[in-house]
Amino acid sequence: MANSQKKLIIITAPSGAGKTSITRYLLGKYPKLSFSISAATRSPRAGEQDGVDYHFISEVDFKQKIAENAFIEWEMVYEGKYYGTLHAELERIWSLGKTPMLDIDVQGAVHVQEQFKGSSLSIFIEPPSVEELKRRLESRGTETPETLATRVNKAAYEISFNHMFNVCIVNHDLDKACAETESVIKDFLGW
Ligand code: 5GP
Repeated sequence: MANSQKKLIIITAPSGAGKTSITRYLLGKYPKLSFSISAATRSPRAGEQDGVDYHFISEVDFKQKIAENAFIEWEMVYEGKYYGTLHAELERIWSLGKTPMLDIDVQGAVHVQEQFKGSSLSIFIEPPSVEELKRRLESRGTETPETLATRVNKAAYEISFNHMFNVCIVNHDLDKACAETESVIKDFLGW
């Protein structure tokens, strides 16, 4: 595939804004989009599979990959937990003639779009408000009071980055946010 066709899509958001639901919807509908499987040092959650949700690797192996320049970007997203996008993963997806979709944190998204100016589409999914995001995270039931507070504080900070991306979609209503995201991606890919 010619270099000019090596496009990628970045979906980013504060946690709880709905980016995973939107990403799943798009991946389910368009086989030519392919989830970019990141490397991560956190433990798998129930139901997660190595090599499907993430490449779950040790911190030692992660640091070895940093030294080898294997990452396009990497971040310590949460205290002591590293996440990164591998060059080899994007090449794998492009070699299949597909477009990678990166579901990554806000700092990582800023770094990737800087490296792929002109060939990337970055989409920021914004929650309607910090209060609404807190309510959604609470109802998900996966947070302790401490992790909830950390995620909410981080989200408030991350929302201030919304102007840095190509498109910002406010997720008032999940169906509408999915449709809007779908539309900008189809435009970008010329579908
Ligand atoms: P979780 O632990 O809930 O799966 O993910 C935590 C956060 O890390 C999410 O915002 C997710 O999008 C982000 N993330 C996943 N993979 C990567 C990556 O390769 N790089 C960066 N910077 N963030 C990532």
